[in-house]
Amino acid sequence: MESFDLKRHRIMLDFTAFVESSADNRLPSHNNTRIYDAPLIGFASAKDPLFSDFKDSQVIGPQFIIPIDWLPEAETVISYFLPFSKAIRNSNRFRGLPSEIWIDAKTFGERFNNIARKYLVEYLTLLDGTALAPSLDERFISYETASNWSERHIAYVAGLGTFGLHRALITERGCAGRIGSVITTLKYKSTERNYKTYYDYCPYLTEGKCGVCMKRCPVSAIKKKERQKQICRRYLTNDVAANFAASQACGKCSVSVPCEYSRPLSLKKEENESIKKSI
Ligand code: SF4
Ligand code: SF4
Repeated sequence: MESFDLKRHRIMLDFTAFVESSADNRLPSHNNTRIYDAPLIGFASAKDPLFSDFKDSQVIGPQFIIPIDWLPEAETVISYFLPFSKAIRNSNRFRGLPSEIWIDAKTFGERFNNIARKYLVEYLTLLDGTALAPSLDERFISYETASNWSERHIAYVAGLGTFGLHRALITERGCAGRIGSVITTLKYKSTERNYKTYYDYCPYLTEGKCGVCMKRCPVSAIKKKERQKQICRRYLTNDVAANFAASQACGKCSVSVPCEYSRPLSLKKEENESIKKSI
């Protein structure tokens, strides 16, 4: 029987190869620009007590469905972060409305994210497991304020990162990207969490340093304590959608910020200097 580590290593390699080679991970209307670079992948026990904490209204709320309620025999939750490629990020550094490539990367990138979710479900099924992606399940509901499954919170449990002031997840590969997950009856070793609180990777929320995302936001939706969802949403539905045939994306707070490519503390001095120049 394959060891726990080898089993985990194999699925990580196969999923990475899939993301890197898939024709769907491209934007044909923009010279076939690659949407995502290689993913980060994390594993959590489906019975991790943190999942029940999310039912607290101070975190997500009672509508959150824990893994074993999505899939009663669940053993593992697999979460992944898909980092946007350099070309996609570079296109969106200027001030004001988002770039056209960024808008398309959001639309086609989410389509690819669904393809990635289905890839993992099929992969795990071929290994004689049962698997499902809650975000694609008919029980999935996205409420005005929070959904019954949160990809960012799942990634937090699976050791991928912690929340930033802008409320995106800051991972070892930064915050500019998309997140997905699947639940399976197969057992994988959990990823170690290198943090203790929801905000460990954001120096503003831990030490009051940084705050660059506040300056990047075109409508000042990021305040000293958190992102004001209503202001952000109003900007997306009114200004952005009116300019991009109803498409909604912005992402100015996740590029040209110290947490764009990695955890801020691991940035080298010269990278910090170049970020300062580009904002
Ligand atoms: S830009 Fe700075 S303050 Fe904002 S989320 Fe990133 S690390 Fe935190
Ligand atoms: S997505 Fe845009 S509008 Fe919303 S908080 Fe970030 S920078 Fe501001």
